[in-house]
Amino acid sequence: MVAESENGCDFCQPEKYTPEDVFGRLVGEHSITAANLAKYDVWSSLVIFNNHNPLKFTLKELSDYIDTSFAWFEAVNNHSPQFEFPFFVWNCLPRAGASQIHGHCQILMSKEPYARVKTLMETYQKYKKEYGADYFQDIYLVHHSMGLSAQHGDINFFASITPIKEKEVIIISPRNPSDDIMAKDTIFRVLRCFIDTLGVFSFNLSISIPPYYKKGGFPYIIRIVDRGSLLKSTADMGGMELYGSSVVADDPYKTVDALKSVF
Ligand SMILES: [Zn+2]
Repeated sequence: MVAESENGCDFCQPEKYTPEDVFGRLVGEHSITAANLAKYDVWSSLVIFNNHNPLKFTLKELSDYIDTSFAWFEAVNNHSPQFEFPFFVWNCLPRAGASQIHGHCQILMSKEPYARVKTLMETYQKYKKEYGADYFQDIYLVHHSMGLSAQHGDINFFASITPIKEKEVIIISPRNPSDDIMAKDTIFRVLRCFIDTLGVFSFNLSISIPPYYKKGGFPYIIRIVDRGSLLKSTADMGGMELYGSSVVADDPYKTVDALKSVF
């Protein structure tokens, strides 16, 4: 059941109303893990935020959601070392695919990378072999030359010129965001800018993570995309996006201008 308020919300009392993983729960300062009732893979769990409202979060709270997720990746890998590909997804509100209003992220560990992550990893390796260069760094430089990028310390990010859907922003972190306050702060500022400045309430955020056995061979790629107005009853994607090509109305220059104002 989708509870719009805290009354009757299962995720407001996760220890009572959600199952736990075989190794129990990981408890963060502002979040707790739960096994997923609707698992879509062997290791498919949730980080449930203490706060019901998914749009209300501080840097400290967001950092805890990330830390709890990465602690769970570690716990799964310790329990079942053959599962070594972590994946993080935050579907914010039902328009973005969430089945519950209450703030939560999906955390997954697989034996093989998921298809789109695999394509990215293979492209990265192939590009390195053929051109001796870093694929993501070059994509960043292309966006930089078009004035679509910005930096926070050594964390690069840009509003994509070929977005999957509206306002897609890509953050490249050379280090594990869980160990890096600059990476966390970049994700935080981008998300707060989406919500507070650009009026985005429904979004998907994913983190593609290098495999456990060769950490460091692939950067951490964080992608954030707007999933449209809560006031619209129509879906933001149709046959064109699924079978043709992405249809995008937003200007990436407006997105990057808004982002630059918060850094
Ligand atoms: Zn709740």
